[in-house]
Amino acid sequence: MTDPTCIFCRIVRGEIPCEKIYEDDAVLAFMDIGPIIKGHALIIPKAHYERIIDVPPDLLGRVIAVTQRVARALFDGLGADGVNIHQTNGAVAGQTVPHVHFHAIPRFEGDGHSWNWRAGAYADRAEMAGLAGRLRDALKSS
Ligand code: 5GP
Ligand code: ZN
Repeated sequence: MTDPTCIFCRIVRGEIPCEKIYEDDAVLAFMDIGPIIKGHALIIPKAHYERIIDVPPDLLGRVIAVTQRVARALFDGLGADGVNIHQTNGAVAGQTVPHVHFHAIPRFEGDGHSWNWRAGAYADRAEMAGLAGRLRDALKSS
């Protein structure tokens, strides 16, 4: 599964250079060209799937296992104080490259980055319960 127009498929095929840090038959990890923090890496399946929900579970497991190893390398190899794993699905969620990928971002004391995470609130307990019920139903049929 490859998409001729996809940047990450082109990286997998070697048509666009990348700074590789890990590769096996199914998974590739390489440095992000626009790091949030220096050391920021991307982990992808070599096959083209757009979103996390499109990836066969066995392959997703392998991508996540490599993501864990990259996170360990950020701690052990770069001396990170923390690591963020970030993943986007759909343009509205900030996905700019439609080939599923995990970001592994090293964090250092005083690195100055902030996720600007604003905690919201439900109107009442019933609103949360209603959404939870819809999720439970969806999970039963997934
Ligand atoms: P998204 O915004 O889709 O979650 O993340 C896409 C990521 O891919 C961005 O962090 C961006 O810097 C990175 N990226 C886009 N094009 C290239 C490229 O050609 N090479 C590399 N190494 N990273 C890229
Ligand atoms: Zn692709």
